[in-house]
Amino acid sequence: MNDYVKLAEYIFPDVTETVADLEARYPARSLPAGAMVTRFAPSPTGFLHTGSLFASLICYKMAKQTGGVFYIRLEDTDQKRLIVGSGESLINELHAFSVNPDEGYLGEIEKGEYGPYRQSDREKLYRIVIKEMMKMGRVYPCFCTPDDLSELRAYQETNKLNPGYYGEYAKCRNIPADEAIKRIEAGEHYVLRFRSNGSYLNRIEVTDMIRGHLELAQNDQDIVVLKSDGLPTYHFAHLVDDHFMHTTHVIRGEEWLASLPLHLELFDAMGWPRINYAHLPVIMKLDEGKRRKLSKRKDPEAAVSYFLEEGYPVSGFIEYLLTIANSNYEEWRNEHLDEDKYNFMLSFDKMTLDGALFDLAKVKNICKERLAHLNKVDFTNQAYDWACKYSPELKEVIDRDKDYFMSIINIEREKDKPRKDYEKYSDILPIINFMYDDYYNEAIKLELPWNPNIDKKVFKAVLEDYAKNMHLDLTEEEWFEELKALAPLHGFCPNVKEYKKNKEAYLGHIGDLSEIIRIAISGKKNTPNLYNILTILGEERIKERFNKIYQLL
Ligand code: GLU
Repeated sequence: MNDYVKLAEYIFPDVTETVADLEARYPARSLPAGAMVTRFAPSPTGFLHTGSLFASLICYKMAKQTGGVFYIRLEDTDQKRLIVGSGESLINELHAFSVNPDEGYLGEIEKGEYGPYRQSDREKLYRIVIKEMMKMGRVYPCFCTPDDLSELRAYQETNKLNPGYYGEYAKCRNIPADEAIKRIEAGEHYVLRFRSNGSYLNRIEVTDMIRGHLELAQNDQDIVVLKSDGLPTYHFAHLVDDHFMHTTHVIRGEEWLASLPLHLELFDAMGWPRINYAHLPVIMKLDEGKRRKLSKRKDPEAAVSYFLEEGYPVSGFIEYLLTIANSNYEEWRNEHLDEDKYNFMLSFDKMTLDGALFDLAKVKNICKERLAHLNKVDFTNQAYDWACKYSPELKEVIDRDKDYFMSIINIEREKDKPRKDYEKYSDILPIINFMYDDYYNEAIKLELPWNPNIDKKVFKAVLEDYAKNMHLDLTEEEWFEELKALAPLHGFCPNVKEYKKNKEAYLGHIGDLSEIIRIAISGKKNTPNLYNILTILGEERIKERFNKIYQLL
């Protein structure tokens, strides 16, 4: 028995299965040629970051469009950083955006033949592979204490050496097996490290699916593969998992590019085929004219929960992410207005390299557009679903009378050029609440935004006159003609152009006159279309409201 084998048998006497057994247990997937197997591999350490949703969306779409598989693996080996419940909430948030995995860790349950999908449940598998690597001489025990390591760091810093545990500084590399066994028997703590054959002076050539041909410094670090708590590190676990889960494309954030040489060396050490890697651009934001990373600390929009809570329509938000994923998405969308967004074929070569710029104004525009094009039933249902989770006030209002609510939000909807009143569901109530008497009564307790240049007597006279001759069974054009006819009787010009030519002759123009009615029935200067509001409220409620206003004038 050679030294490596002796040590491996000593450290892992219980491990009897081999890598060959695992190969048999996790056979290649039977998928069509070109099908991509992608994964989202979050660590349950907090909320779902907008960048992570972006990456998962790309993984999901690439798998879908090639007839492949998108799965989720929970990377929970770092017990210190773990936040209880965060795995489930990451899944729920993905689900809220309909980025649904085909298999993997799904919260309470797991689905698929390649599991377990939670790294903390895969300890046995890791030990099998580590034992094999140890027998090959590529893994060794390291007895360095935290003090030894800080001493090494200090030495490297003072001498301006590359930092880390490598080459001549990897002092446990060559401890003979017998000595290692003795030290373990004596109760010394140890971790297991990978033995790198590389040197940072060498360059390796790699092809990134997005960045193309790259030259990177070779890995030379003897990274820890098994920690003293018996759990593997992420780098090692990812090797085992992506291999046995038959991932074809690792699509992840740019911050992982620096680990690529190490990851490739791990695959090479096992003699396993390399996987395709695609490193996505970091999501940036313009802050006072300067680009910077979207920050968990400073930017609420860094967490996808922000968009859910605010009620941005999820399809609009996903659509926005597609526009930053591929530079040709918008052009495609303009040419295929009625098609499902996922009919677009996403490609790696249309991805930007220099930081995708996150533009909240554009998110808003796209969402506004999406919401405007929903029919009244879909809009109401989606608003209601959102309200059930996030806005008891809106839910209560819809519950009072769904048809009434629908008639309000249908103002200037379901037509060729619908009005774009709402960018998110949380906009609805503030815009339409005056259509409910209790909200209206509260609103008029506050100072009303009357035109300060017009005498209150005029407001009252206009309202009284309008109330006397109110006809709501007319078309909008006829109704407007009647309103215009009222204008000269109170000193207003029926025509805006005319008014501009001769301002002194009038109190204001037709817009100022209709504003008087608008404020009286809503308490606001801006509302959806006045004619529609009036017809929905009906003569009786309008007159009731006017009567309340007379008291205030
Ligand atoms: N668990 C890693 C993370 O938290 C995944 C990195 C990868 O996708 O390889 O981002």
